[in-house]
Amino acid sequence: VQTRIIDGNPIARTVRQGLRQRVEALRALGCVPGLAVVLVGENPVSRIYVRNKIKACAEIGVYSPQVDLPANATEADLLGRIRGLNADPAIHGILVQLPLPGGISGQRVVESIAPHKDVDGFHPCNLGLLAIGQPRFVPCTPAGVMKILEHEEIPVIGKHAVVVGRSNIVGKPMALLLLQSGATVTICHSKTLDLTEQTRRADLLVVAVGKANLVDKEAVKPGAVVIDVGINRLSDGSLAGDVNKHSVLGIASRLTPVPGGVGPMTIAMLLANTVLAAERSLSEQRVATRT
Ligand code: NAD
Repeated sequence: VQTRIIDGNPIARTVRQGLRQRVEALRALGCVPGLAVVLVGENPVSRIYVRNKIKACAEIGVYSPQVDLPANATEADLLGRIRGLNADPAIHGILVQLPLPGGISGQRVVESIAPHKDVDGFHPCNLGLLAIGQPRFVPCTPAGVMKILEHEEIPVIGKHAVVVGRSNIVGKPMALLLLQSGATVTICHSKTLDLTEQTRRADLLVVAVGKANLVDKEAVKPGAVVIDVGINRLSDGSLAGDVNKHSVLGIASRLTPVPGGVGPMTIAMLLANTVLAAERSLSEQRVATRT
C-alpha cells in the first residue's frame, strides 16, 4: 500500500475559517466570544502553548485575556480567580493550562470551572455527558481526531478501533467518541499485556501515550488507518509521535504526522468549543429576555 500522510493544517484552517464567520455573526449581534486563558507559573512549554492559543483566538476575533498567576500562587488564589471568571459575562470559556505547579490539585481546579464554560471538556459533568452520548463540550484533541476522520471520509461504523492510552483528556474521551460513532473499541494502556497483538487487530489505530517509536510495523495491520497523537521531544530537539513513521510507511493506509497532524486540530477545536459556548450563552440570554 501507498501510505497517505494526512496533513492536519489545511483541515484546521477550514475549521477556523468556518469559525471566523460564526464569530462575525455573533459580533454583529453584540456578543464577542471570550476565552480566558489561565497560566500559573513559568513553565516554558506551557507559555508557548498559551501564546499559540491566544494568537489563534485573535485571528478569528475571539477576545482572549491571559490571566497570569505567579508560580507560588496557592490553590485558593487560583480557585478565587476562576470564581471571578465564572461570574464574568464577557467570558464564555475558561482554560487553565496544565500541568499546574505542585500543591495545586488539578482535579479540584477542573471541578471549580463552571461546566458551561469548560471548553476543555474536562469537568466531570462534561465527561459524564460525553459518556452517555450527550456531549456538551468534547475534549479538544479527541474532537480534532474525529474531525480528521470526518474530513478524510474514513468510515468508523462497524470498524475495529484500538485506542492506546486511557487518560481522561485524550484516551478515554477518544474511545467514547469512537464507540458513539459505531466502532467496536478496544482500549490499551500501560498494563496491557499483549499490546502488539491488540493493535494488530485495529482497522483504526489511535495512539496517545507519549513514547516515541512505541508503535512500529509489527503492531499495524496492513491497510489500517493510524492516528498518532503522541508528542515527544527527541534528544536532537526535534518532535516525534508515538508511531515509527518510517517503519509503518507502506503498511498503514493513512497516517497522521507529528508535527502537523493532530496538533493543529487541537487548537482549532478549542476555538470551536469557545464559539459554541458564546452561541449558547447568547441564545440563553435571548430566551431569558423574551420570557
Ligand atoms: P498521559 O501520560 O496522561 O497518558 C498516557 C497513557 O498511555 C496512559 O493511559 C498509560 O496507561 C498509557 N501508556 C503508558 N505507557 C504505555 C505503554 N508502554 N503501552 C501502552 N500504553 C501505555 O498522557 P496524555 O495526556 O493522554 O497524552 C498522551 C500523548 O499525547 C502525549 O505524548 C501528549 O504529549 C500527547 N498529546 C498531544 C496533543 C496534541 O494536540 N496533539 C494533545 C494532548 C496530548
